[in-house]
Amino acid sequence: MKGKIIVDRELCKGCKYCVMSCPKEVIVIEKRFNKNGYFPACPEYIEKCTGCAICAQMCPEIAIEVWREED
Ligand code: SF4
Ligand code: SF4
Repeated sequence: MKGKIIVDRELCKGCKYCVMSCPKEVIVIEKRFNKNGYFPACPEYIEKCTGCAICAQMCPEIAIEVWREED
């Protein structure tokens, strides 16, 4: 299954829970900080995303939206 995530970089607090929990290593931490001074998560390798939504379930800030492509 092919998936896609959208991270709200201004909601993100840079805790890295999503980075550590993604089984496909899709997410990295950006080098540019957001308005609140946190380095936010970024779906750098989105082509590997399966849409499993583990990252969104782990995110304490509800900053991740998950989309799945129908077969
Ligand atoms: S939906 Fe799954 S595969 Fe995609 S970024 Fe989140 S944890 Fe990784
Ligand atoms: S789990 Fe949420 S708050 Fe933490 S780094 Fe990922 S997107 Fe940001």
